[in-house]
Amino acid sequence: METQNPQLSDELLSIATDIREHLSCLHELGIDTVETEKAIQSPDESVPTDPEAINQKLPARRTQSVAVPTLASAPALVPGPSRSSTNSEPAATATLFGDLTAKSQKLEKTTETFEEIWADVGDCTRCPLHQGRTNIVHTEGNRRARLMFIGEAPGADEDAQARPFVGRAGQLLTKIIEAIGFKREEVLIGNVNRCRPPGNRPPTEEEATMCKPFLLREIAYVQPEVIVVMGNTATRNLLNAKLGITKLRGQFQDYHGVKVMPTFHPAYLLRDPSKKQETWQDLKKVRDYLETTAKSNS
Ligand code: URA
Repeated sequence: METQNPQLSDELLSIATDIREHLSCLHELGIDTVETEKAIQSPDESVPTDPEAINQKLPARRTQSVAVPTLASAPALVPGPSRSSTNSEPAATATLFGDLTAKSQKLEKTTETFEEIWADVGDCTRCPLHQGRTNIVHTEGNRRARLMFIGEAPGADEDAQARPFVGRAGQLLTKIIEAIGFKREEVLIGNVNRCRPPGNRPPTEEEATMCKPFLLREIAYVQPEVIVVMGNTATRNLLNAKLGITKLRGQFQDYHGVKVMPTFHPAYLLRDPSKKQETWQDLKKVRDYLETTAKSNS
C-alpha cells in the first residue's frame, strides 16, 4: 500500500516491523495462531520496554503506612479495599479454592530493602535443603517491576549460577516474558524456595513454609501489579489454594490486592509442549490487563 503521507508510511512500517518481531517470538514458543481482532496500539500507548520508561508508567506509588517486618515474618497486612477488582474475577471462596487470601486485606508497603531481606536469609540453615546447595538463589530483576514471576525452587543451573530461571526452563520463561512485550530485566523473577531440592523434587510443605516469608517480604516491598505463579508449588504457596494448577490456571486470583495469574510452569511446558497454547492464553490476559492499567495511569 502506497501513501502520500511520509509520517504515516513510517508509522505503518514501524507497526509492520513490530508485528513481524512479535510473530517470530510467538513462533519460537510454538504458538502458531494469533488473534487479529485486537486494535493495534499507537506507539505512545505501547507497553514500555525500557526499565526507566516502564517505571515512569507506574501509577504513583501507593502511599501506605509503613510496617517494619520482623525476622522472616510475612509482610504486614492492612484492612482496606482490594487495589483492583473486576467482575470477571472468580470469588475467592474457601470452599472452591481452599484458603485463598482474603480480598479485604491489602499489602502494606514496606521500606526494607532486598539487601536487608537477604541479610536475614543469611547463610540459611533453617531447612534441610541447605545441605545440598551450592548457592542460595535470590529473587532477581527490577525492584520496581509491574510484573513478577514466581517458580518453585532452583534447579542445577540456578544452583550453580546463583540466579533464578537460567536453565532450559528459564530460557523458555525469557521467551514468554518477551512474547508479552517485556524484557526479562524489566520484570521480577523469584522462587518459593531459594535452595535446590535434591533431584529437583518439589519442596516439602515445611521447606516452603520456612523460605516463603522472604519472598512475601520482597513482594510487599515491590508491590507488583500482577504476579504470575507458575506451577503447583508457587500457586499453592502464594494463594494457599487447594486446587491444582490445571483447575486454577487462566483465572485471575487475588493476593492482598495484587492480581495473580496461575499458569503452567515452563519446565512442564518443556515436557508437554501442547500446554504452551493454554499458557499463551493466560499470559495474554496478563498482557492485556497491564496494558489497560498503563493506559489508565498514563
Ligand atoms: N524451576 C524453578 O521453579 N525455578 C528456577 O529458578 C528454575 C527452574
